[in-house]
Amino acid sequence: MSTIFDKIINKEIPANIVYENDNVLAFKDINPQAPVHILIIPKIVIAKVTDLKGKEHASLLGEMIDAANQIAKDLNIADDGFRLVFNCGDNGGQEVYHLHLHLLGGRKMNWPPG
Ligand code: 5GP
Repeated sequence: MSTIFDKIINKEIPANIVYENDNVLAFKDINPQAPVHILIIPKIVIAKVTDLKGKEHASLLGEMIDAANQIAKDLNIADDGFRLVFNCGDNGGQEVYHLHLHLLGGRKMNWPPG
């Protein structure tokens, strides 16, 4: 099923893009929950974490982590630390059913999460 993130991938609606390669796109969250809040998404449609298969998607997931580390460096939050989050399904708080990795930083995170 198509989501708003497909439109961002296809540049049909604007987003503040901070990183892009052939497989991965990253852009600022429209409703940031921290001074730095970036969404890192695959360009192929994968709805959620439970649709991932380790062997098939290992390299894509690696690219998403590489992107997170590069963006954290570029935005100067790598040394202080940050949080990476996949929300999955209703109880996980997922709203957009296109896989995305939240990169949150620029402030001290709380634990447990809300
Ligand atoms: P989820 O709750 O599914 O893990 O996270 C979805 C995220 O997408 C939310 O943090 C929300 O603010 C963000 N979001 C939803 N629609 C848009 C949009 O059109 N543009 C951007 N940049 N972020 C969006």
